[in-house]
Amino acid sequence: MIKNVDLAIVGGGMVGLTLALALKDTDIRIAIIEGAQCSPISDKPAARVSALSHASERILQRLGAWPAIAELRCTAYQTMQVWDQDSFAKIEFSASDVVQDNLGYIVENQIIANGLLKQVQQQSNVSFFQPNRCQSLAVGERETWLTLDNGQNLTAKLVVAADGANSWVRQQQQIPLTEWDYDHTAIVCNVEMEEGHHNTARQVFTEYGPLAFLPLDDHKLCSIVWSQQTDKAIQLLALSDAEFSKQLAVAFDMQLGRVTSLSQRQGIPLKMRYARDFAQSRIALIGDAAHTIHPLAGQGVNLGILDAASLAQELQQLWEQGKDIGDYANLRHFERWRKAEAVKMISAMQLLKDLFSGSDPVKKLVRGVGMNLAGAVPGLKHEVMQRALGLKGDLPKLAK
Ligand SMILES: Cc1cc2nc3c(=O)[nH]c(=O)nc-3n(C[C@H](O)[C@H](O)[C@H](O)COP(=O)(O)OP(=O)(O)OC[C@H]3O[C@@H](n4cnc5c(N)ncnc54)[C@H](O)[C@@H]3O)c2cc1C
Repeated sequence: MIKNVDLAIVGGGMVGLTLALALKDTDIRIAIIEGAQCSPISDKPAARVSALSHASERILQRLGAWPAIAELRCTAYQTMQVWDQDSFAKIEFSASDVVQDNLGYIVENQIIANGLLKQVQQQSNVSFFQPNRCQSLAVGERETWLTLDNGQNLTAKLVVAADGANSWVRQQQQIPLTEWDYDHTAIVCNVEMEEGHHNTARQVFTEYGPLAFLPLDDHKLCSIVWSQQTDKAIQLLALSDAEFSKQLAVAFDMQLGRVTSLSQRQGIPLKMRYARDFAQSRIALIGDAAHTIHPLAGQGVNLGILDAASLAQELQQLWEQGKDIGDYANLRHFERWRKAEAVKMISAMQLLKDLFSGSDPVKKLVRGVGMNLAGAVPGLKHEVMQRALGLKGDLPKLAK
């Protein structure tokens, strides 16, 4: 039997679920097609975490998903320390600098998705197809046709790709990508340290790439993201736990003492991806399906959550005006808006990655002067912090 909906969201991860939830007060009929099985939250903290900005928190609060996230393992951090191993330049950001209680939250991705899912499951305008994948997608003039792997056929006025970095929808539509390899692989795992983290996020820029220690719920537990040149990362991943722990503590300048235990390590190759089109006739792209960036400033999912809130705002307005939500002419404003925001973020990440790579003496000087300057000029530091927290910029209503 064919199911007719207005909006089909392919990918029920953090970004796809945010879009569905942001349309909870409309009568837009939504289908979510998610390929992975729904699984319960693990007892032990998972290694994949996100630093959520204030803008993301505000959106999740307003959508009613935040209480379920905050009651689980969710760590507010009040301070962030960043230093350059090579030049000894250092900068500290404190929540009091921007008159806030904290600088953001470190939360496991599974907990964010679960908080959203709990709310979306209560929406009467949403049907779930899970675990299901699409097998075919055909775009017509007035609607799209989807066939799922269980034989279910769907029609929708608009299909949204929220299916991550290797988006199936993007590939089906043959939307070209601008992409480059960061030549970095991120090693992620959770580590228990000798000393407490005092709710401080720390990041050191080493010769081979940035290493972040993000504070978790337990005061000695941190999630690490060690972005390394890929050949170095492969060597590190092959080390024994004891040897890896030793090298990690040294790379981190022994800031929290020795590593006393660590979880299984995972290596994730890092690529910049930027889709040529964020919208086409009857198609829109959000989150990692539209763009992926280096995790050094922890902004990827924050950008994706803003995409979702922005698209929801546009769709709701079109719907209320009785306009076609899948017509490309009606999606162009969303596309221009989010492409401009993504380009700003991609450029900033590339600049930081280039500036903090290697031991070129000129770069070292710029790093040292830049950090000292940013620390010394109050207006500059304030501006940088407001942008990182998502308190400034071209924000959707839900984030304001
Ligand atoms: C090491 C690392 C650290 C990071 N740290 C941060 C951070 O601190 N802060 C931050 O903001 N961002 C961070 N990011 C980025 C962040 O993880 C991503 O931006 C985010 O996961 C993207 O969410 P998404 O929902 O767009 O995609 P995904 O999380 O990839 O979700 C896509 C969903 O679609 C489903 N799916 C895929 N294909 C199909 C299909 N064909 N059919 C049906 N379903 C499908 C998948 O099962 C999944 O549920 C980090 C990234 C990395 C690699």
